[in-house]
Amino acid sequence: MKQRNTLIPTLKEIPADADIKSHQLLLRAGYIRQNASGIYSFLPLGKRVLKKVEEIVREELDAVGAAELLMPALQPSELWKESGRWGTYGPELMRMNDRHDREFALGATHEEMITSIVRDEIKSYKRLPLTLYQIQTKYRDEKRPRFGLLRGREFVMKDAYSFHSSAESLDDTYEQIFQAYTNIFTRCGLNFRAVIADSGAMGGKDTHEFMVLSEVGEDTIAYSDQSTYAANIEMAEVIDSYSSSNEDMRDTEKVSTPGVKTIEEVASFLEVSRENCIKSLLFKVDEEFVLILSRGDHEINDIKVKNFMNAESVELASAEETKEIMGCTVGSIGPCTAGDKIKIVADQAVKYVRNGIAGANEEGYHLVNVNPERDFQAAVFGDLRFIQEGDPSPDGKGTISFAKGIEVGHVFKLGTRYSDAMNSTYLDENGRAQSIIMGCYGIGVSRTLAAVAEQYNDDRGLVWPSDLSPYDLHLIPINMKDEHQANLANELYEELRKNRYDVLMDDRAERPGVKFADSDLIGLPIRITVGKKASEGIVELKVRKTGDMHEVHKDDLLSTLIDIFKTLS
Ligand code: ATP
Ligand code: MG
Repeated sequence: MKQRNTLIPTLKEIPADADIKSHQLLLRAGYIRQNASGIYSFLPLGKRVLKKVEEIVREELDAVGAAELLMPALQPSELWKESGRWGTYGPELMRMNDRHDREFALGATHEEMITSIVRDEIKSYKRLPLTLYQIQTKYRDEKRPRFGLLRGREFVMKDAYSFHSSAESLDDTYEQIFQAYTNIFTRCGLNFRAVIADSGAMGGKDTHEFMVLSEVGEDTIAYSDQSTYAANIEMAEVIDSYSSSNEDMRDTEKVSTPGVKTIEEVASFLEVSRENCIKSLLFKVDEEFVLILSRGDHEINDIKVKNFMNAESVELASAEETKEIMGCTVGSIGPCTAGDKIKIVADQAVKYVRNGIAGANEEGYHLVNVNPERDFQAAVFGDLRFIQEGDPSPDGKGTISFAKGIEVGHVFKLGTRYSDAMNSTYLDENGRAQSIIMGCYGIGVSRTLAAVAEQYNDDRGLVWPSDLSPYDLHLIPINMKDEHQANLANELYEELRKNRYDVLMDDRAERPGVKFADSDLIGLPIRITVGKKASEGIVELKVRKTGDMHEVHKDDLLSTLIDIFKTLS
């Protein structure tokens, strides 16, 4: 491709609203442009990288026997009503009416659509298992679109769905797709981990997220320093490895704690450690108010509460609700006199507190020497808190550290959540109707592109891994008006393309400094400069990643390129 025939609008300045490297560089190097908040065009270079990511995804999914299809982005509301998600998906789902006033949604995901297709076409166990996928634009009206392609409102996703007549068959496909994802993200050159995740609004059971390790990631991963254990912090299990001190239980006393509200204030006012404080929070779990306890140095994890209590929703009670039910403000509530009014559920660590501190349910007072079981009864103890750095790893090997991650992929075992709701069944060997068992598997294709850009750059621009680079070679004649240079550049352009290299040739009438700066910004693996020595048939190669320079005669160019590309892959 000649640069004058394409559109690569590079920018010198860092665009004002781009906070992270990948977003800045994809804009500056002319790969993408924003058209509205969270909505982007892929310009020619961006489109080429996107295609490369898509090809890797296709190759790996085809290899495990998944078949590609393409479903509509525009989906009738009836399907979403059947699954129940028309009501629960919320404002992220973009909805609209057609000219007959029929309701539609722009697909945020395609469980409903694929379930309806399979329901209509698959009748017998003999046609199972089956895995179908598509690569398609998705629409989600995200609350905070940001970081460019990392969180858009319109983005490219690969979504796959598998259909089974047994849990074992689902397990097999899940394994295979897990492996395909590992291959995909490895081929993209990403530093990633597969982590145990929460099944969230999808309503599944087993699930893993593929996380690219990155400072700009929105998720926190808890991982072991001595094993392969890794989980989203939302899910990371905390094992019960606590013990009580063996001091005697003392008599409970009420003490005045005027103006003292937070755990920090209580601990410093009474000169105790936060560990010895019992933190009480009033939650609304579905329709019921529940007092949830944790140790003062721990944080309650509402996702764990939700899963533990099998609830649909868990939210903190408002200040007014707390006052009405507990008779005092948030800073003074506690479990001791609350048991008859309200159910108490406690994190397992609370069981081991000896002579602890808790709110007295009276404004400005706390109780000291509170002992669980003796002074209050919890209905149940469970693992309800966030894991912390330094906690033992749940697999018993090593301790937990944290890292930030960008979620690029997600694999789910859905079970019969959608088949049941939408009556998608097959006939088993005995002719009985059974719900089809499902799995679903997503990859953020455009997010993956941005994650690669985030990991592969330096202070001069992007540095693409060769498998994803929009072109292999950047051919730069310094001066197209020089006859030797123009002739050699044109000759090499044809020759290299004949040898199956994708070549971008900078045929613009720009100064060399501009061409070089743009070339570094765009970040192709190898630059070939045709300059003063063109008359001798000599060109200069520069490896973008290492900065290494080589002078090469045109006759040796092909063999040299083969050698360099070997070192890059
Ligand atoms: P997130 O927690 O980041 O919002 P999600 O759990 O909503 O992601 P899924 O519904 O599992 O994501 O979608 C599958 C994949 O699509 C994700 O793993 C992610 O890579 C990608 N993805 C999701 N939302 C966006 C978005 N707004 N922009 C770009 N990619 C996205
Ligand atoms: Mg989301």
